[in-house]
Amino acid sequence: MADTQPKIIIISAPSGTGKSTVISRIIDDPTLNLSFSISATNRPPRIGEQDGVDYYFLSEERLQTLRNEGEFIECVEVYPGRFYGTLHSELIRISEANRNLLLDIDVEGALSIKERFGATAFAIFLEPPSLEILRERLINRATDSAEVIEQRLSRAAYELSLAPRFDIAIINDNLDRAVIEVADAIRTFLRKE
Ligand code: 5GP
Repeated sequence: MADTQPKIIIISAPSGTGKSTVISRIIDDPTLNLSFSISATNRPPRIGEQDGVDYYFLSEERLQTLRNEGEFIECVEVYPGRFYGTLHSELIRISEANRNLLLDIDVEGALSIKERFGATAFAIFLEPPSLEILRERLINRATDSAEVIEQRLSRAAYELSLAPRFDIAIINDNLDRAVIEVADAIRTFLRKE
């Protein structure tokens, strides 16, 4: 393990809020020293997603085996039958590279990491301007069926109810501004001892 404890930055947001875009804009900021924590999931890859880059895409059986063996720091059934989790091996991989972890995980996973890692972790909630705008973005993204979009919207309402439990909530009504606010919040957190 590395000598210094890496910091864990968590970004949670309802699906379609623009979280991946915000992450892609801050991940290479040299002042933040971040490395993206690749989660494991049993959901099938979307077009363009790569195993070991976007996610570790696992079969249901393999994921449950790892879960039973205690290989996950946290693992949540985010949608019915769809599990997503952070592996201990990711924490080790990124710590050994002396970088801070950036976790893109759901609200329940975020809050469980906060509870477990305390002041080492900083949880950011990225909010859509409204559920209506979120619906439009999900439809325009055209990666999911109508049924999946409805599932994601009902999940979004639940996720928004948990926003007050995060360290900070940032509204993504203007992408450039949201990116600056997220990066500034992380920078301020990293400066604290
Ligand atoms: P998507 O299927 O759109 O890639 O992700 C669906 C949701 O799963 C997102 O809210 C994403 O943040 C969450 N997610 C991705 N990886 C993890 C993880 O390792 N743990 C948890 N708890 N949620 C995750």
